[in-house]
Amino acid sequence: MKAPRFTLRNETAYNATDLKRLVRRVAVDEVPATARPFTVRVRYQRAGSSTTGYAWEWSRRVVLLMYRDGNQDLRWFAQTIAHELAHLRGVHHRAMRGTRYTGVLHLDQFDWARDFPLRHQPKVPAKVDPRVQQELALAHARTMLAKADTRLKRAHTIRTKWNRTVNRLERKAAHTTKGE
Ligand SMILES: [Zn+2]
Repeated sequence: MKAPRFTLRNETAYNATDLKRLVRRVAVDEVPATARPFTVRVRYQRAGSSTTGYAWEWSRRVVLLMYRDGNQDLRWFAQTIAHELAHLRGVHHRAMRGTRYTGVLHLDQFDWARDFPLRHQPKVPAKVDPRVQQELALAHARTMLAKADTRLKRAHTIRTKWNRTVNRLERKAAHTTKGE
């Protein structure tokens, strides 16, 4: 079956291609292929909260919230996707009662999702070579020194200018006193 068009915005460490495959698989069942394109944003859920989502029918937007640690039950996630995509189709909660769109009792209808790969690759902060770190520190210090020199030169120029003015006015004052 042909899948409807959608854009996936992945804000997690889950593999985007894997996420997209899963969403597409659910979308084939839930959204007509000719429907207006929609956007799916995948984010992390707050710690301790369960997988959930939001859908905005008119702006064609879905947000899916996933577990951060990579222990995502894909049946549950597939059910969440189906639930939100049904909202896009205009299905309300009342009509979802007792269906596959809600509740653990219907999770088995998403057993197929378990076979879907969902790679999880959290970013490991890159270790910075101490020599590189030293070079960066030196470059920064040189920049700051150059800035300080510029400020010092500017201050010196201003001092010279006012010093000249004071000398000129003092000479003038001395002449005026003599002239009396
Ligand atoms: Zn809902």
